[in-house]
Amino acid sequence: MNMRQIAKDYNLRVTHTTKKNIDQVVKKFELKKWDLKNNAFIISDEDIVLGIYDSTAHKEAAFFHEIGHTMISEQFEKLVNNDQMLIEFQAWIEGLKIAKKYKQDISPKTFKYILKSINSYYRSSLCAYNKRKTKNAKTKTKIENND
Ligand SMILES: [Zn+2]
Repeated sequence: MNMRQIAKDYNLRVTHTTKKNIDQVVKKFELKKWDLKNNAFIISDEDIVLGIYDSTAHKEAAFFHEIGHTMISEQFEKLVNNDQMLIEFQAWIEGLKIAKKYKQDISPKTFKYILKSINSYYRSSLCAYNKRKTKNAKTKTKIENND
């Protein structure tokens, strides 16, 4: 797959992190070294930074996901009240549409990886929600005690 050409079609540059260039990538994009393990970034809607991946298929899926982020409009963000989870879901959907456009097959392993990624947002959102709920419950108790 010609990632460089696909990125170019979307006016994006793509940086592949390797063991050799990792220090330069960290410096240029102000990232942390550990961020670049099986992880990717879109920076200023201009640069896709692909970290060091254990699996090429996962790297490709992340590549489409990051392009997907650039397809999300401000209107959509407003519509979902900047809900991070919904924005991430949408980026996967947009990314899959682009993969389809370029006739990229999603292997069963990659499909599983995508579902796992989506679930990880769900888990962290649920965790944040539960924390808020606990906090609110505590505040409520406090008020009741004051009565
Ligand atoms: Zn994302």
